[in-house]
Amino acid sequence: MITDFYNNLAESAKGGKTPYVITSGQGAYLTIDGKKKLNFCSSHYLGLAVNERIRKAAKRAIDQYGIGTGYRTLAGTHSLHVQLEEAIARFKHAEAAIVLTGGYMTNCAAIQTIIGKEDIVISDELNHASIIDAIRLSQVKNKFIYKHKDVRELEDRLKEAVKLQKTILIVTDGVFSMDGDLAPLPQIVTLAKKYHALTMVDDAHGEGVLGKGGRGIVDHFNLHGQIDIEVGTLSKAFGVMGGFITGKKVLIDFYKQKSRQFLFSNALTIPDTAAALEGVKILEESDELVKTLWNNTNYLKKEFKKLGFDTGQSQTPITPIMMPDEGLARLFSAKLFALDVFATPIVFPMVAKDKARIRVIPSASHKKKDLNFGIQMFERIGKELKVI
Ligand code: PMP
Repeated sequence: MITDFYNNLAESAKGGKTPYVITSGQGAYLTIDGKKKLNFCSSHYLGLAVNERIRKAAKRAIDQYGIGTGYRTLAGTHSLHVQLEEAIARFKHAEAAIVLTGGYMTNCAAIQTIIGKEDIVISDELNHASIIDAIRLSQVKNKFIYKHKDVRELEDRLKEAVKLQKTILIVTDGVFSMDGDLAPLPQIVTLAKKYHALTMVDDAHGEGVLGKGGRGIVDHFNLHGQIDIEVGTLSKAFGVMGGFITGKKVLIDFYKQKSRQFLFSNALTIPDTAAALEGVKILEESDELVKTLWNNTNYLKKEFKKLGFDTGQSQTPITPIMMPDEGLARLFSAKLFALDVFATPIVFPMVAKDKARIRVIPSASHKKKDLNFGIQMFERIGKELKVI
């Protein structure tokens, strides 16, 4: 019996992906198999994963305090955690912030802590897996999924929901991670007010990217104070790891008292916390990196379009290069890799079967010559495989 169990595991994992092993930092280039490859698909939007100031901040903190922490509610809240939460709240123009150990954990905390079985969650069909899992964790019975960005269907769902006279939560990704398009946040806010619903946005791909100096999608749409729960991650633009929620102080205090992910798991380590804090300070001081990211994004998209590639509906640095089918997406990516460009294929189940693509993401650490190298290799293979 047990042998069968393990045999079944081995069988179903067969043909799975073996990740590339990287032996460099996450900069404009990665070293894989001893060779330098253009890093054309990471979410380190601002290059902070290898930033000199952040490295120094982490090293200083290690020298002073070591590495490990503890439960935040017992003996694990370090002054660095407090400083990080204060800095994030200030940066986001929010009343308060709570930091957890990852964006995934944070989405789970954000939903599970405030939503009970009898409440209602209304969620965009393309929301991130961590939101889907968070909804499952909450065990909510009334779960409505609306078509991607379809505010008319959202309103129909709200009309149904309001009859139940329970807490209603509308949850959406801010930037959708596969297509790079934006949630219709202003319309969502209007509907939420009309039907007395709470709103939550997962801004993992908007932090450090959208809004003034990278303050995120709420700033981009000038909706400060109108979204109840803003979730962010520290693992993308901030270059480290961890996640955070910002919102009203009363809400954040509640999370700190009741969230299982906060209560029953250790706090972010000392170097992670010091590094993230330095990242927030860098963004508070200057919008230079965010501007460079957007210059690179606009240039890249313009050049890809000029060459005849279909770059989908993206409004952000996430640039899908649509492929006719999954096989071609894989082959295209393998050929790029052989030419020292690292851009992974995105296929089912990450996207629908007929929506295979290569997802290119420029960063502020790319120089024009790096972008040109990547574009030239895309052109070469695009022509060879007759994608353009
Ligand atoms: N939300 C979204 C939209 C994401 O893309 C990701 C990361 N891929 C997460 C949450 C999870 O963040 P983390 O990697 O910090 O756990």
